[in-house]
Amino acid sequence: MKAIVGGTVFTPTHRIQDGVLVMDGSRIHVVGTTGDVAIPPDAERVDARGYSVAPGFVDLHFHGARGHDVMGPGLADLVRALPEYGVTSFMATTLTLPWDETVAALATMADQLGAPVSGAECLGIHLEGPFLSAARPGMARADLLEPLSWPRFDLLQRAAGGSIRMVTFAPEAGEGMSVIPRLIETGVVPVMGHTDATFDQASEAIGAGVRQTTHTYNAMRPLHHREPGALGAAMYFPEVFAQLIGDGLHVHPAAMAILIKVKGPERVVLVSDAAPLAGLPPGEYAWGPQPVYVREDGRCELADGTIAGAHVLIDSGVRRLVVELGLPPEQALTTATLTPAESIGARRKGRLEPGADADVLLLDDELQVTTTFARGELAWQRD
Ligand SMILES: [Zn+2]
Repeated sequence: MKAIVGGTVFTPTHRIQDGVLVMDGSRIHVVGTTGDVAIPPDAERVDARGYSVAPGFVDLHFHGARGHDVMGPGLADLVRALPEYGVTSFMATTLTLPWDETVAALATMADQLGAPVSGAECLGIHLEGPFLSAARPGMARADLLEPLSWPRFDLLQRAAGGSIRMVTFAPEAGEGMSVIPRLIETGVVPVMGHTDATFDQASEAIGAGVRQTTHTYNAMRPLHHREPGALGAAMYFPEVFAQLIGDGLHVHPAAMAILIKVKGPERVVLVSDAAPLAGLPPGEYAWGPQPVYVREDGRCELADGTIAGAHVLIDSGVRRLVVELGLPPEQALTTATLTPAESIGARRKGRLEPGADADVLLLDDELQVTTTFARGELAWQRD
């Protein structure tokens, strides 16, 4: 057993001063205050006085970092690297490649997932493409996109050995609407994104079971007062979880604040959308079929200026919500932990409570990650 003693514990929705968290193997045994929790005498003690204690971050939209791409053997390197950023679980998110390359990459990803290494837990594959709208491709190559259909999705799911757990798609095209219930029946979370849907089309998708929007604001119609689009639907329907990129470049901080005000922290899923170039110095790199440039200010973009993923990870977004947007830490942490976990039905992730996975962070007073436990194992510690 390990006992983290004396820190300010964020569950994340509640703050416990002078807290204690006891881990038993890979699970949390008990959480409380030093006054009311009896610390087992044989427990290894971790002194957390002066630190915040929070659940590990859950990033549902992550493509890679430090030159490693989730779509290949780099997935194992990322599992080991992510605890440094406080990420203890994530969805390995794909990029739209030519069909045969996608099939091959999914098979490689499935191999990596079948031989897990210690570190962050990959919760599955988030398929972002090819079932996207050519009208809202973002950095995807429009000629590789196609409407969602069950037979085509099923081919990819077979290539991935059943590991696809989320699919971002444009519901307005082809058979998109009718595939939604089949995705849900087979345990795949349908996510509306890279979509040109009108408000009525987005409402129909939500009626069919969609409960999440991919990087809300980005790659969808802007909010128009006569045509609110998928963005308006994400804001209007309280049951919808809205992913939000927290790098301050994809979405203006004021627009980030508006979404959080409208939805509340229980319905905003903070994501990184980190590119494999995240953390690399300025320069020209390749990501998938095209060159991508990292600019001096950290912007990742194609030659024509199209934004191409984020250069920072989710921990940076959490700090931005607190420092720039003025959110209380409970709320900022909720968007990066409990809410993403709830949005995919991961009941043991994103929360500090008995029985949950012992994914636990120590954060300093600037919310920098100093220590990460992943399923009870010390996965990273700052010097
Ligand atoms: Zn995207």
